Amino acid sequence: MNCPKCHSSIVQKASSIVVSGTHYTEGRYTASGVSSGQSVSGSTTTTSALAQRFAAPKSYPSYSSSFFKSVFNWIVAFIGVYILVMPFVALLSPGDFGQLFIYVYVIVMPLISVALANRTAKRHCHYMAVEYPALLAAWQRIWYCHACDVTFDAMTNNPMDRSGGATAS
Ligand SMILES: [Zn+2]
Repeated sequence: MNCPKCHSSIVQKASSIVVSGTHYTEGRYTASGVSSGQSVSGSTTTTSALAQRFAAPKSYPSYSSSFFKSVFNWIVAFIGVYILVMPFVALLSPGDFGQLFIYVYVIVMPLISVALANRTAKRHCHYMAVEYPALLAAWQRIWYCHACDVTFDAMTNNPMDRSGGATAS
């Protein structure tokens, strides 16, 4: 595999950059702070700028874990709103209406949370089924040239712009 632009062989698959989290240090290439040919061991706590740039496409877990995570977030949000709003309800409308408001809120809030979480989880599942496979396949074809800082698609050999899309050639 050679770079389509400068024909250098100092190229690396983007997904392996992400996995290693380190710069390519083999051969003549010299990373900042690294002497030529010296290898740098990967660290589990630091991620290189390149690894961040080539992050894998976003993925979501199963319907149930998306759903429960979303329900939890909405419940927390509604409890927060409740805590903020309740003093004003008690102040402005003491008595029956205030009581009614509390009952309605406590009953309706979980129902709304479930409905919203269901919608979010369904959207995540749809994305995982329809869009994610293509994004993942495209990501796995991305290679990077360390010599001239060009990103290219291994299948078409076309250089890409920084956003990952193919540039007109
Ligand atoms: Zn190159």
